[in-house]
Amino acid sequence: MIELKSLTKVYPGGVKALDALDLEIRDGEFFALLGPSGCGKTTLLRTIAGLETATSGQVVIGSKDVTHVQPGARDVAMVFQDYALFPHMDVTDNISYPLRIKKVAKPARTAKAAEVGARLGLEGLMDRRPGQLSGGQQQRVALARVMATQAQAFLFDEPLSNLDARLRLEARTFLKKLQRELGVTTVFVTHDQAEALAMADRMAVMEAGHIRQIGTPAEVFQRPANTFVAGFIGSTPMNLLDGTVRGETLEVAGCKVPAPAAGLRDGEKIVYGVRPEYVTYSVEPVDGSIAGKVVLSESLGASHLVTLEAAGETVQVIVPEGDEPALGDEGYAVPRTDRALIYRDG
Ligand code: ADP
Ligand code: MG
Repeated sequence: MIELKSLTKVYPGGVKALDALDLEIRDGEFFALLGPSGCGKTTLLRTIAGLETATSGQVVIGSKDVTHVQPGARDVAMVFQDYALFPHMDVTDNISYPLRIKKVAKPARTAKAAEVGARLGLEGLMDRRPGQLSGGQQQRVALARVMATQAQAFLFDEPLSNLDARLRLEARTFLKKLQRELGVTTVFVTHDQAEALAMADRMAVMEAGHIRQIGTPAEVFQRPANTFVAGFIGSTPMNLLDGTVRGETLEVAGCKVPAPAAGLRDGEKIVYGVRPEYVTYSVEPVDGSIAGKVVLSESLGASHLVTLEAAGETVQVIVPEGDEPALGDEGYAVPRTDRALIYRDG
């Protein structure tokens, strides 16, 4: 288990990378840390590893307060974004390097490297140097080096970002499966929401040194806690439309739509959120629909992402391939009320 208590990191020069952050990562879980570039993900990971010292707050690993413990004594292993392999060492030596630091004898080190290397499909490459390996192979060596240490927790800093799209998908499945088998607590940093949703048992969404939401991928996808998370999660961002409460309905983009929640205050200004996946397109007006004009239509393969302009707002709708309207058509976006959300932080 990893616990961060009111963790703050201010860099010399005054950048507050982590702001009184609280987080509990459970034993054995695959935890994804998601957020845009610069939000503090790497800093968080390095502070857990002990490569950065906390300005204030606590880091607890497995019920031991390690806030002031040296990195080498924290029993966590980190994979860096650029893998940080030693160019002059072969695969065996790269994998077994942490064991050399721990003064494990050479035959035992080599045996361990061979065992872990085989598990990661590196047999036959053990004598090569990093420069003689593909990006995907280098990444596996970095993983193998972490696994050889048998740490209490693995920390991954965007480990898939240097792979091309197809390899990245393969590595995703591979890494997830491996983590399941090993059952080692894993913190996985990414700026790719699809990666976090696909891989995590639970995830946190970060913004500017703060955690904006913690939950399972399903919880975060279905019920984003605020407009930041809503706009960040999903292959197409959620529609977020300014609205005003009018009794049982909402006035959104000049139209009346049913309120998805009870107890709203008449006249209150809100933000109405609904994913494009949960909005259908209609040629004819329908009760509770939003009238607009088609300004953009992008193919997603089996479907189209259609953008409507409606009274100064932009509404996106996913339409099955073949049913997409033409540019300039006047039509109606029909949101699913049971999938719509109300926000007050817009
Ligand atoms: P992320 O990994 O999410 O992209 P980082 O943790 O690398 O974010 O950075 C968080 C913030 O801290 C950024 O504003 C970044 O510029 C700043 N920062 C990171 N490392 C240092 C450093 N060594 N010195 C000063 N500022 C830093
Ligand atoms: Mg980073």
